[in-house]
Amino acid sequence: MSEHAPVEPGQVLPATELVRDRIARRWEGLNERVQAKVQSISGLDRTPEVRLIQQASSAGTVTKRVSWLRKAADHVHAGAAHLAACRKGCAHCCHIAVTISRAEAQVIARETGAKLNPKAGVFSMADSEDFGEAFKQATSGAVGKPCTFLTEGSCSIYAHRPLECRLLLNLDDDDLLCQLVEGSATNVPYLDARQHHVASVAILGQHQDYDDIRNWFPQGRANDTPSTQHKAD
Ligand code: SF4
Repeated sequence: MSEHAPVEPGQVLPATELVRDRIARRWEGLNERVQAKVQSISGLDRTPEVRLIQQASSAGTVTKRVSWLRKAADHVHAGAAHLAACRKGCAHCCHIAVTISRAEAQVIARETGAKLNPKAGVFSMADSEDFGEAFKQATSGAVGKPCTFLTEGSCSIYAHRPLECRLLLNLDDDDLLCQLVEGSATNVPYLDARQHHVASVAILGQHQDYDDIRNWFPQGRANDTPSTQHKAD
């Protein structure tokens, strides 16, 4: 059962001693609890995910590559969703940075009709010297600011949502650690999806430009209507 009062998605809590203490207490023993959850799915057959990534790697167009990568991400999600705190109507993670590549942004633009900002795309994964600073600048305003595709608390492009959104699963038991705290970086026990992200960067191209979703699509989509309940459903 949750030990804290409900907090609206996107609400940024003041970093009071009470809030910091509550977070610190939650982290006591959390790594072990999360490891136990991960252990419970360690026997899952990962062959389908590997095959889907291979399909992405050999696909002839960017659209097809993105499509196969989405299928692989959805497979990962389906295998772990029952362990996660993510629930309908919870959209804290639609109020933090969502990094996507130009290739993926172009696919989303084509599929949804959302207008792509020609000035977006300010950092590259391959440029290790400038990456940290450029990433910080691109994402500095994201915390507490709703994604431009969030409509009435739901994702309006659910079927087309970015890979990053598909792979974000909080393996805690409730949303306490997803809540935004003033001046603090989010520290959430997310499912480790690094292998998938590394494969996606390699397949879609590390030399292209990346940006936060709000910068790629500052206007969201015209006449948005929610197409689903939540990014993690
Ligand atoms: S694309 Fe959808 S799921 Fe992803 S952050 Fe935006 S509203 Fe949330």
